[in-house]
Amino acid sequence: MSAAQAAGAGHSEDQEFAGELGGFVLARSAVDRVSERRGDTEWIASAWADTATRVLVLDNGHALVRFGDKEAELVLVPASEAPEGLNFLLGVDDSGVRYFGVMGPPGCLEQAAEEAPRQHSPEQVAAEPEAPAGEGPAQQAPEQQAPEQVAAEEDPAEQAPEQQTTAEQAAWLARAKPGLRVAGLREAAALLGDRDAGLFTHAVALANWHVSHTHCPRCGTPTQPIAAGHAQRCPADGSEHFPRIDPAAIMLVTDPDDRCLLARNRRWPQRRVSILAGFVEPGESAEQAVAREVEEETGIAVSRVRYVGSQPWPMPQSLMLGFRAEAAGGLDLKVDDEEIAEAHWYSRDELRAALAAREILLPPPVSIAHRLIESWYGEELPGVW
Ligand SMILES: [Zn+2]
Repeated sequence: MSAAQAAGAGHSEDQEFAGELGGFVLARSAVDRVSERRGDTEWIASAWADTATRVLVLDNGHALVRFGDKEAELVLVPASEAPEGLNFLLGVDDSGVRYFGVMGPPGCLEQAAEEAPRQHSPEQVAAEPEAPAGEGPAQQAPEQQAPEQVAAEEDPAEQAPEQQTTAEQAAWLARAKPGLRVAGLREAAALLGDRDAGLFTHAVALANWHVSHTHCPRCGTPTQPIAAGHAQRCPADGSEHFPRIDPAAIMLVTDPDDRCLLARNRRWPQRRVSILAGFVEPGESAEQAVAREVEEETGIAVSRVRYVGSQPWPMPQSLMLGFRAEAAGGLDLKVDDEEIAEAHWYSRDELRAALAAREILLPPPVSIAHRLIESWYGEELPGVW
């Protein structure tokens, strides 16, 4: 099963919760979040003491993952084996197992990988090399939002498979070989099952928020986690603060001939293209953001803006809202030259030919962009990413 097929495996189960497209890789789950338990300290303590409880340990947004040939699973540990750190309740599954996440100390996962049973060769234990910090694609998160300065989802810097050369592609494929290693959501999510994809996404989103929001915005006092890690309280003034999520609109625009608009951000490598995206601004609806971003970046006026589904993109804290839109007037593309380097209309045949000739590279299956392009294309996208 390919990564794309693995990603699609969740379609039927999650369809009732999904938008019309469904099946987004990071929009899956198999646990009940039991939000009503977050304030029940007795229940939390007994859940933590339960030997059946499982804990997902995070180190800088990464987790220990056991990769098989075509699938992967998180390495979850009993609470007694989890490192010290801020923890949060993630949920309860159908058989009653409780799940927590823990923000472990730096380097804790490399150590755990070393100590794990030797069912892998040593080189496969090495941590994923730290990717250079991307500057973000069409939009940038404010500086203080780091850990990763990537707001929308098409950041090529950490996407790894730029595949400029066959040597790079070979290196990427080698990384995906079976074994136990530390990995991020981008690398692992499409291979994980519904339970693990949901746990990982939930935990990374909370961890990113705690890392970047440590003090009260009213008075500057260090805040304390409450609600099983899902909120913070200021001990000085009692104010409560909740995880911040940045909505971003991402849109597939078509023309009257049903050609699809694809663009390359100035910061992306050569050949990488995707659909347009941008943050929703204060005082603006998601649909207004779609129209504004398309016009700003390509000069195209759109109509019939239609929501098709969403997925969290906690890198560090976005929620991607997927849309379709149609070019309403002229089709001449005038790129803004600040964010967009080039943009073109593609028919399905032209896209197939451009991919076959390796003239362009599409975003990987983990992205909502991939699914939106695939839904327009009508079948599984050919090629690599
Ligand atoms: Zn305060």
